[in-house]
Amino acid sequence: MMTKKVVVSLAWFSLLGVFAPSAWAADLLFSQPIFIFAIVLAMVVFAGSILALVFHNSELFSFRKLYSLLTHLPIATMIVRSKDGSIMYGNKACRELLGVRKVGSNYFYPPEIEAQMMCDILRPHTSQSKFSNWKEKLHFAERDPLTVLVSGQYVRYKWQRSWVLFIHPVSPVDSAEAKSEHEHLVLKSVLNSLSELVYFQDKSGKVIGTNKAFDRFWRNRQDEGLIDNIDVSLKNNSTHTWTTAPDGASRLLETNKTALIGDNGEILGTLSISHDVTEWHEMQESLKQEIEKREITEQALEHKNNLLDTILSASQDPIGLYNEHWVYVGCNEPFARALGHTQESLLGKVASDVIEPDKWEEFRVVNERVIREGVTVKTEDYVTMETGEPVWYEVATSPYRDPIDGTAGVLVMGRDVTERKHAEQQLADAIMELQEMSFVDSLTKVANRRSFDEHLRKMWHGHIREQQPLTLILCDIDNFKAYNDNYGHQQGDHALREVAKALSQVIKRETDEVARYGGEEFAFLLPNTDMDGGEVVAANIHRYIKQTAIAHAFSEVDSVLTVSLGVATVTPMPTQDYGELVRIADVALYKAKAAGRNCTMVMTDNEAFGV
Ligand code: GH3
Ligand code: MG
Ligand code: MG
Repeated sequence: MMTKKVVVSLAWFSLLGVFAPSAWAADLLFSQPIFIFAIVLAMVVFAGSILALVFHNSELFSFRKLYSLLTHLPIATMIVRSKDGSIMYGNKACRELLGVRKVGSNYFYPPEIEAQMMCDILRPHTSQSKFSNWKEKLHFAERDPLTVLVSGQYVRYKWQRSWVLFIHPVSPVDSAEAKSEHEHLVLKSVLNSLSELVYFQDKSGKVIGTNKAFDRFWRNRQDEGLIDNIDVSLKNNSTHTWTTAPDGASRLLETNKTALIGDNGEILGTLSISHDVTEWHEMQESLKQEIEKREITEQALEHKNNLLDTILSASQDPIGLYNEHWVYVGCNEPFARALGHTQESLLGKVASDVIEPDKWEEFRVVNERVIREGVTVKTEDYVTMETGEPVWYEVATSPYRDPIDGTAGVLVMGRDVTERKHAEQQLADAIMELQEMSFVDSLTKVANRRSFDEHLRKMWHGHIREQQPLTLILCDIDNFKAYNDNYGHQQGDHALREVAKALSQVIKRETDEVARYGGEEFAFLLPNTDMDGGEVVAANIHRYIKQTAIAHAFSEVDSVLTVSLGVATVTPMPTQDYGELVRIADVALYKAKAAGRNCTMVMTDNEAFGV
């Protein structure tokens, strides 16, 4: 107000300074430079005053207009100098809210609020011209702290840089409402994010709310989605309904309806939630089918197991099964018995712990082949039972695959072939005997004449092909008639056996053969042997016979039994007959006898010479 008075006085004064002198002293004034200067100065001051008055009045005018509005504004409003935070104006609401005091035209903060504090509040906003809803907590000595929202507008007030501040308390009531609003928004967003279809009905059944999933699913056919046949008073109050989804697919909905009860226990309405349980339902159905199928399979399996047990028990033949780790997984009593076990003690054991190592090695090779090649292999096995009784088995080993877990294994089936084995053995013995009878001389056990002839024939033809020398030695006991006559026929037989034994020892090569050629005559057939070889064998014959030293007191030659040898060597020609060899050897023998016995005569073709 002071400023206004000064400006108005200055204006009047300068006006007087311009016009008053003009009436009575114009000449005087314009004639003196000092007066010209005074007039110009007065005009400048006048113009400045007028301008200041205009600006001042406009500011006064604008604030005055606002003053009554701000004074009665229900929002606490204050003007604060930005330099030091001092209060320049505070309306009624401000005084009530913050306890600002007005003394004359001055305003004061309550003791708890310092002007500096206001500066601190405003500092972050100095770069802006306004701010809004800045949250601040104000502390008072005797009151609860007050949380306020402050909005500000930068202004020039009374030529000072200032802030008009609007202060709005955040009342507990407001925060409760905001909280409730917030909760409402959260709840709404939760409901909308659910894939379940949710709707609320009031007591009369009118729909009062739905979520987005419900709206999407039941678009343009909301009535279809309202399930009325549920009694909410029941505990298990869900219902299943087949319906069609917006994409045309058939879907099964499970709907639960719950009563919404108010704080006073009164039913407000209902909440219905529908889930799409089509996939769950389909899974249940396929599970049910799977269980049924499994039950049927299990029954069939049990039946088969029973059948298998019956077969195993009924079979007198041993039957057993190993798995791929050679563990016994099934067997009958005869099988277990053959391995010296009972059924119970055998099952679960590893075969290598039950069967002797050598035997198991043979079985393992067979079993691995059976699994690898998928073939049945037949073998024979000899078992000595606990009673000491020997039993022969024909064993068929076959592959099998477990129908449940698909693992491989081996089925072993034995057949008692002991009787057949005995018969075979007897037959073999008989055959052997027969063979011996037909090829072996019964008295001396060396080859007989038949065998010799057969052998000679084969050798002869072989030597024709190979053009190798073949040597035949005919060996005749000297004066054996006299031996027989004097020592008796039995003694003669004994002497023949002794001579045969000695002659057998002469044979060193596998291909050489000695045979009883007849009576007291023996023959040696020496394949691939030339004359020199024949002579060596002949010398050995004399040596062995001499070592035998069979007393022959009636021999013309010696006191012991002696022999004469005729050796023939021929490299046979295709035109020749093997009888030729015998004939030549015979001549040589004859010549040995003629030469005094107990000696050897050698002959190649028709030429004979003694050795
Ligand atoms: P040599 O020195 O000239 O050969 O006179 P030898 O008496 O040995 O010959 P001889 O052919 O006259 O007689 C052969 C005898 O051998 C006749 C027979 O008494 C005897 N002898 C032949 N076969 C058997 C036989 O199987 N058992 C026995 N004990 N004697 C046999
Ligand atoms: Mg003779
Ligand atoms: Mg003789």
